[in-house]
Amino acid sequence: MTEAPLAAPRPIDKGRLATGRLAQTDDSLERAYPDIGDLAARLRFAFRDGRIWFDNQRVALVHLSTLESLRRELIDTLGAGEARGFLTRMGYSSGARDATLARKLRPNHALRDAFLVGPQLRLLQGVVSMEPVRLEIDVAAGHFLGEFVWPESFEVDSHLSTYGPSSAPVCWMQIGYACGYASTFLGRPVLFKEMECRASGAPHCRALGKPIEQWDDIDADLAALQPAPFANRFTARRRTTGPAAARETVVLDDLVGVSAGFVGACHLLTKVADTDATVLFLGETGVGKERFAHTLHRIGRRADKPFVAVNCAAIPDNLIESELFGVEKGAFTGALASRAGRFERAHGGTLFLDEVGALSLPAQVKLLRALQSREIERVGDRQTRHVDIRLVAATNLDLDRAVARGEFRDDLLFRLNIFPIRIPPLRERRDDIPLLLDHFLHTFATLHRREVTGFTETAIQALYDYDYPGNIRELENLIERAVILSDGRGAPIDLCHLQTMGRPIAQAAPREPLAAERADAPAAAGKPMVERLLETGLSIEAFEDELMDAAVNRAGGNLARAARMLGLTRPQLAYRLKRKGNPVAEAESGGSTPN
Ligand code: ZN
Repeated sequence: MTEAPLAAPRPIDKGRLATGRLAQTDDSLERAYPDIGDLAARLRFAFRDGRIWFDNQRVALVHLSTLESLRRELIDTLGAGEARGFLTRMGYSSGARDATLARKLRPNHALRDAFLVGPQLRLLQGVVSMEPVRLEIDVAAGHFLGEFVWPESFEVDSHLSTYGPSSAPVCWMQIGYACGYASTFLGRPVLFKEMECRASGAPHCRALGKPIEQWDDIDADLAALQPAPFANRFTARRRTTGPAAARETVVLDDLVGVSAGFVGACHLLTKVADTDATVLFLGETGVGKERFAHTLHRIGRRADKPFVAVNCAAIPDNLIESELFGVEKGAFTGALASRAGRFERAHGGTLFLDEVGALSLPAQVKLLRALQSREIERVGDRQTRHVDIRLVAATNLDLDRAVARGEFRDDLLFRLNIFPIRIPPLRERRDDIPLLLDHFLHTFATLHRREVTGFTETAIQALYDYDYPGNIRELENLIERAVILSDGRGAPIDLCHLQTMGRPIAQAAPREPLAAERADAPAAAGKPMVERLLETGLSIEAFEDELMDAAVNRAGGNLARAARMLGLTRPQLAYRLKRKGNPVAEAESGGSTPN
């Protein structure tokens, strides 16, 4: 597919660009892009299933007029500021996704051509025709300079037709896309700023992108990428302290991210912060529940009062009462002095009970009593003390199931589960990886006095491919170890520095494929999928077994439905399964599962 209509960028009207920095002829412009055929060939229509695939991700055709109404409604209901943030982050997420494809789609190309996958995908998607004016990339040195112009954008058209000319640039989604794309490609935060916009009377829109710390005067641009004032504060701090990492303050409890899951959690945090409501953080180990709890305290009404954290799993059962409520001198052997417990120490402030699901049943009773009465008694003391605390708890357990198993009291769960906030695992917020990489790299380089420029391309790729069962904490530990292992004299972190659980990350289990990368893809994705299968070394027979198992599972054991997925008749599938001694076939052919 070399001469498809999409094979070259649309020629640019020279007159329109006369005042731009673009001093190239149309010929050289067309040469600026590699042939788009390799990307266009990845777009496949599976009409029968009602699906469109780009590579192994599903896409959908949406009318531009629908996007325009969405944009209008957002501005009218949220106001321009919030709408800008929303659309910028939406674009960011889309750009981040495309960047993870870029190197895969052009693995053996020069870095510049691999980078141009992004602007070329925008062409292919029919969104915008971006033309590169300047493009300098050095991943390992962390250097990036990109300048792009575009003559038209639906955002400009929509803005002009509804609101008339604008005093400020309006290509928010487009800028978000560029930020997300370049940040993910480079593995560090890159900010694009729209220097001129057609909505403000310029002949075209022009954006400049460079690493975030090299910018001045970008508060409004950063705010659009900041889901809440308490998130991503590190970027502002770094700019005020200058590029010299040694002068930075090390702050480990920052919340960092821009992905939809992260933004959702931040939104809930903002809503509940200025109340005294009990908050329960839910999520896997290592997702950062304690950081969220600390931030909740920091932005709430009790910020100037104590924040006291208790890890319920770390305190032996026989000590939990004295730890929580305190102890009076002489209460038991060894109680040589009276001392206040965590409840008393948190008076006026916040008490954070981490791993609350680990409390024994007797401890749960005592906690419940204290929460109901807001009064405690120290062990060995008859005096009742009133405590004023905001309770925040966290758990990685499914407390409903713990209640069903009789391991957690339902009345305590009701007390805790007033305002639950789920923190998504890192694999559900991959868009945040570049920001997190940069944050941890600078934090630990400062802490350990190492000079590290960034990551090599192979290191970045491995960090994106990994599944992070230990979530953000695992990523954080990984980067801290890598910073210590690096030569510390200005070289980037390489693959050999990235070790998890004592193994190099590249050899660790590859990540679970995304749903879109799994079973739906073969018909649509065609050759690349077959090539990937060949690389796994699976025999035809083993592949057939896996395929049938997957279809049967997906059909919930319904053989007729599974057979349809495989293009077989039901008896054919049942026969094949039975031949392999598959119990599903036996059970189903016995008539126990309805068709
Ligand atoms: Zn614009």
